[in-house]
Amino acid sequence: MNSPKPTSSESTTSMENPETTEAQETATNVCQGCSKVFTYEPIFIGKVDLARALATHCEECKDAEAAGEAQAARERSLIERRETVRKTLPPALLPKHLNPLGTDTGHPQFNLPMWKLVKQWRPGPQGNWISLIGPAGRCKTRCLALLAEKIIMQGNRLVWTSAMRLYTEATLNLRSRERNVQMSAREHLAECLNTPWLVIDDLGNNQWSQDFESQLFTILDHRKNNCLPIAYSSNAQPEEFYPCITSVNPAALIGRLIDRTTQFDFTPDPQIALPIQ
Ligand SMILES: [Zn+2]
Repeated sequence: MNSPKPTSSESTTSMENPETTEAQETATNVCQGCSKVFTYEPIFIGKVDLARALATHCEECKDAEAAGEAQAARERSLIERRETVRKTLPPALLPKHLNPLGTDTGHPQFNLPMWKLVKQWRPGPQGNWISLIGPAGRCKTRCLALLAEKIIMQGNRLVWTSAMRLYTEATLNLRSRERNVQMSAREHLAECLNTPWLVIDDLGNNQWSQDFESQLFTILDHRKNNCLPIAYSSNAQPEEFYPCITSVNPAALIGRLIDRTTQFDFTPDPQIALPIQ
């Protein structure tokens, strides 16, 4: 390293500031980034300049380095979030850029008009729950997964579950004699209760039982009371579940599903395929 010796510039005393008695010294060094000579403020202890060892780069190079680090951090965070999307969503529902066999929004059978409506949805004063409702084969679950991807890529924690899984956890696994099965059911239900974002796929495609209804009600009620968002898909309007629900108070469960929930109707009729607030 043959960097030049520090050169102290001439002491300058400002004419506008005649009270200044101490010399305002600057020193120069050669930038290790761009080889330009730049000035810095030396800190002398005796004859040793302690600032020199740290004055390795000019301001422009320091700014460029900071910008580069910020860009690298953004790229790392994008990679991490994509990885979270991969771990969270069922593989077949991943968007095409994460799984070539996943959802292709350009595919002629993909319900692009409904996805265009769903992706514009934002939580707001009207509520932070969203439901995608309609018969099978209308890409509700694919739209739900694309919405989940969007939410995770914005940096939110999200748990993906299905009505079928909740039924299994609540009725079978929670009562299992195998401790780890029981523990994992307990953990999943606790996650559904408290995660910042919860997605429940395919309501109505489950059996109904008092255990399931009680767990589902606990989750819905807790999340509604704490303003924790839910996105769910359902093959029927919540009111249509009245005859299926076995518990004493189906209205409480159905009420939670409807209350302050923005509903997107996937029924293939252009007259009603619009969001209903
Ligand atoms: Zn430089």
